[in-house]
Amino acid sequence: MTKRVYNFYPGPATLPLPVLERAKDEFLDFAGTGMSVLEISHRSKEWEKVMTDATSLVRELMGVPSDYKVMWLSGGASTQFFMVPLNLQEPRKAMEYVNTGGWSTKAIKEAGYFGEPKVIASSEDKNFSYIPKNVRFSKEIAFAHFTSNNTLYGTEWQYMPEVPKEVPLVCDMSSNIMDKPINIKDFGVIYAGAQKNLGPAGVTLVIVREDLLDRVPEHVPTMQKWKTHAENDSLYNTPPVFAIYICKLALDYMKEIGGVKELEKRNMKKAKLLYDIIDASDGFYKGHASKDSRSLMNVTFTMPTPELEDKCVKGGTAKGLIGLKGHRSVGGMRASIYNAMPLEGVEALAEYLREFQAENQ
Ligand SMILES: *Cc1c(COP(=O)(O)O)cnc(C)c1O
Repeated sequence: MTKRVYNFYPGPATLPLPVLERAKDEFLDFAGTGMSVLEISHRSKEWEKVMTDATSLVRELMGVPSDYKVMWLSGGASTQFFMVPLNLQEPRKAMEYVNTGGWSTKAIKEAGYFGEPKVIASSEDKNFSYIPKNVRFSKEIAFAHFTSNNTLYGTEWQYMPEVPKEVPLVCDMSSNIMDKPINIKDFGVIYAGAQKNLGPAGVTLVIVREDLLDRVPEHVPTMQKWKTHAENDSLYNTPPVFAIYICKLALDYMKEIGGVKELEKRNMKKAKLLYDIIDASDGFYKGHASKDSRSLMNVTFTMPTPELEDKCVKGGTAKGLIGLKGHRSVGGMRASIYNAMPLEGVEALAEYLREFQAENQ
C-alpha cells in the first residue's frame, strides 16, 4: 500500500481514493482500446461516451432541467469572470455584483472591461468575514452575480439572494458545487472550476439556461461564445480530456455513495466537528467567519500568535495532515474539507487540534 496523507489544500484538492485507483487501473488500456484515455481521439465513440456520461451524471446529481446546457470548458473559473459579462451584457443595462471576497473582487474587475459593474453589497468592511444580509438585486439589469462559497475566507451563503424573475442570477460555485442540493431553476448561469469540489484542475463546469445563449453579440470570437460550446456538446475544439475523464469517475463515485443529499449530510458532520472545537476552545482557536456565514467547505481560524499557528501547521504536517496554512488574506489556518475529504481525515484533524490546544495553551 502507498502511504496517503490527509490533504486539506484548498485546490487542487484531495480526490476520492477509489477514483485515483480506477484511473490507475485503466490507465494503459482504456475501455479495451489498447490506449490510454490521453491517447484516444476526442472524436472516438469511447471518448464520446465519457463525455455524455459525465454530462448525464451532472444532470442527474444536480437535477439540471432539460432547458439548461451543461458544458465542460477550459481556462478555469477565471475565464468565466469575463465570459459572463461578454455573453450576458445588454446595452444600457447594469451588471450587479455582491463582493464577498477575493474571487468576487476578481470577477468584478473583469466585468469592468465591459462597462461599470455595480457592487450592491459587500463584506469588505470586516475582511470578508460574513455574507451580507437581505441582498436584493435590482430590476431590469443584465445579470446578477454572486460567489456562493468564499474559499479564502471560509464563508458560504446560507440563503438565496433575492432577484427579480426576469434577471438571470449568475453564481461562481467553484468551491462548493454539489456540497448540498440546490434548485437549478433559481439560476441563469452556474460555473465552477473543477479542482476544488469536483475533480482535477483543467476544466470548468458551466451550466447555462438555454435562452441566455442567444444574447451574445455576433462579433464575439467563436471560442468565447458559450453558444459555440453548447451547440457542439463541448467538442467544438479538443476538450481537456484527462480532466473531464477524472471528473466523470468522481461523479460516478458521488452517485455511488448516495448523491448530493448524502454529501450534504457528510459535509455537515465534517464541518461540525471542526466548528465545535473552535467554539469550545475558549478563544484559543478563533473562527474567521461569523457563525451565521460559516462555510461547509473551508474552515478558517486563527490562534493567539503566529508562532503557535506555525507550530500547529508543522505539527499537522508531521502527522500527515497536510495543507493547513491559511490564505495570506486571513492568515492563521484553513482546513479545506471538500466533498472528497473522508470523515476519518476530519476526525484525525479534530483530534490533533484538541491535543494541540491542551499542550500549548
Ligand atoms: C479557485 C477559485 C476560482 C479560480 O479558479 P481558476 O479555475 O483557478 O480560475 C474562482 N472562484 C472561486 C470561488 C474559487 O475558489
